[in-house]
Amino acid sequence: MQAVVLGSGTSTGVPSVCCTCATCTSTDPRDKRLRTSLLLRSDATTVVIDTSSDFRQQMLSHAVHHIDGVVFTHHHFDHIGGFDDLRPYAFHTGNPVDVYGMPETLNVIRSTYPYAFGLVKPTGASVPQVALHELTNASFTIGDITLQPIPLLHGGMDVLGFRVADVAYCTDTNAIPQASRELLRGLRVLILDGLRWNEHPTHFSIPEALAVVEDLNPDITYLTHISHNVLHRDAESKLPPNVHLAFDGLVIEC
Ligand SMILES: [Zn+2]
Ligand SMILES: [Zn+2]
Ligand SMILES: [Zn+2]
Repeated sequence: MQAVVLGSGTSTGVPSVCCTCATCTSTDPRDKRLRTSLLLRSDATTVVIDTSSDFRQQMLSHAVHHIDGVVFTHHHFDHIGGFDDLRPYAFHTGNPVDVYGMPETLNVIRSTYPYAFGLVKPTGASVPQVALHELTNASFTIGDITLQPIPLLHGGMDVLGFRVADVAYCTDTNAIPQASRELLRGLRVLILDGLRWNEHPTHFSIPEALAVVEDLNPDITYLTHISHNVLHRDAESKLPPNVHLAFDGLVIEC
């Protein structure tokens, strides 16, 4: 299986509109960050974690012609904003796309996209065809990929990370409860929120992420959901050897 970083950027994307800072004007392709999302791909199964606001572009860039499941971490718009672009997948297969999330996440998807669920009068326009599946903390399987939900805190909000074998994805978090830390032992790869150098009320700063790395001790860590305050080349020179910034298109062999 491969994990592919589809987007490594914070909610505005990088560059951010209206900004002329060093990162937003950088010519380094690793400083071009679409909204945060991850692709999991085995020979038989394709899973997308979050339909980011850049979902369509991400699916085109990585030639994702079929999706077996979409798994949501939480309902912030940068993670659900591409939901309407699930439409072509059902056109192709004639079947709804299986969508997984916490009850609250699915409720916000219903209220954000009411036309997809018959909650407003149909207009004749095409709508995403999906089958919603509520997640608990129990592991679940899509095709041949088994995902273990990892409860995380994102400011005052409950969100989910996911572990697949010895790879874990924990974006949009600034606190990992102790019970969840126990689910994150023995990792080969951890993809972890690391928004920027200074603190933030809902995301790990890079120093806070490094403290998590020290506790969990994965072989290698990639920081994601990165803001324009972080210049890739500059940050890489300051990080310990087992910690890197993720970048769009990064492929992790699992
Ligand atoms: Zn986010
Ligand atoms: Zn900027
Ligand atoms: Zn968020």
